[in-house]
Amino acid sequence: MNKKKLLLLALPVAAVLVALAVVLVLRNSSGDRFVIPDHIVICLDAGHGGEDPGAVFEGRQEKNDNLNMVLAVRDALEREGHENLTVILTRDQDIPLELETRTDFANKNDATLFISIHRNSGGGQGVETWVSADGLRPETDLATYIQNNLKDVGVNKDRGVRKGTASNPHASYYVVGNTKMPACLVELGFIDSRQDNALLDEQADAYAQVIADGILQMVELK
Ligand SMILES: [Zn+2]
Repeated sequence: MNKKKLLLLALPVAAVLVALAVVLVLRNSSGDRFVIPDHIVICLDAGHGGEDPGAVFEGRQEKNDNLNMVLAVRDALEREGHENLTVILTRDQDIPLELETRTDFANKNDATLFISIHRNSGGGQGVETWVSADGLRPETDLATYIQNNLKDVGVNKDRGVRKGTASNPHASYYVVGNTKMPACLVELGFIDSRQDNALLDEQADAYAQVIADGILQMVELK
């Protein structure tokens, strides 16, 4: 093959490679990259509250489990003593909150990460962590750190990181879909499973610690 022919072949190949590089750069700059800010704000959200108990089983109310866990995660994060990290809570007491109030709070405070804590119900077992239907990489990274850490402590069933909602894979849970930062929603076992409740009560401190660890891994403080 002579030089001219070789050049004619190489030019289209080079053009395709350049186009591919441009597409990759554009994709990376359009929001699926996570930049850790100088000052990190972690927003924790205890699901339900006040007259909305969430799921209920034998007098046990989801809202209380959620709040206890959020307070314990906050304590675990604050124990680490990182001066460049602040924890904010959508609620720190038993009050009702609209979903929009929760996401507005996180967005207005320019939170770096948003983690909502819930309990599951409906006849199942185990722990799962939800991301939006899109499931872009940063939120999936956050969810994966948390889910894997919880699995390592011990869960009755590892239900994994899941995209969308339990009823619709193309929809997102409101607080996950309407927050501007990477967000996930942890379903910390089934409130209508006695085994899950026993495990949560037994492991509450360990669960709180590893949820905090997952958050710290995400912002490269662990
Ligand atoms: Zn809930």
